[in-house]
Order: sequence, then C-alpha cells, then structure tokens
Amino acid sequence: MHSDDGDAADLDQDKHDRHASVWSGRRSDLMLSTEIGAWAFGCGRDGYLHVNEHEFIVEVVDPAGTELIPVGDDGTQTGEIVLTNLGRAGSPLIRYRTGQIVKLSRKPCKCGRRTAQVAVAAFEPVAHAAAM
Ligand SMILES: [Zn+2]
Repeated sequence: MHSDDGDAADLDQDKHDRHASVWSGRRSDLMLSTEIGAWAFGCGRDGYLHVNEHEFIVEVVDPAGTELIPVGDDGTQTGEIVLTNLGRAGSPLIRYRTGQIVKLSRKPCKCGRRTAQVAVAAFEPVAHAAAM
C-alpha cells in the first residue's frame, strides 16, 4: 500500500483485515515517494519499517539544518530522514530530504532482518531545497 505522507502508523488493523479478506493475502506497508521510490517496507512487527539499504543510503539530520543527528543512548536517532537512492540510474537523488521525521533504530528486528528500521513520527513540509 502507498504511504508517502508519513501516515504508515494510521494503517490500522481494520484496513489490514479488510485487505486480507478481499485480496486473500497478506498486505505489507511501504514508505515511498514519487521522487525517490519505495524506500522502506513493513515486516509486520514492532511498528517499524525496514529501510531498503540495498538501494538507499539513509541518514538522519536536524530538520532545521543539515547536521547529522548522533545516535542516542537508546541506540536510536530522531530527526528528518535523508535518502540517497543508488538504484535509479536515470534519475539518481543524492541526499534527498524527505521532510519526514523518523525515529531510526539499528537494533536487530524480531523478524531477523538487520537493516535500519524507522518509525515515522511526523511529516514536516520543510521550506528548504530537496537536496542538501
Ligand atoms: Zn522486521
């Protein structure tokens, strides 16, 4: 399912159940944008989405500036997610500012994946240029 406005968390259980019954299958959450493509997917656990680190370099920056957010004592970073897409040869984007405020964790997920995981906190339409 499509979610480019930071509302992955609002895809509630009722919607999951309806999709499962109508399509006779399991639905996965995605984070994507027209500009950069699908950059994260859900595994159904923990409320986080896995970043597709095979195609994206992920950074977390201060939404009011360009400085990287350091990893906190709890092993997470909270700030605006910035992505570099390595998989689009025709229209690469380098350090694309998404305007989405996330909490990023690199703790191993219960599903076994070890990619960065994000929980989307908010979508902040920022007035800065899309690329840093
Ligand atoms: Zn997982």
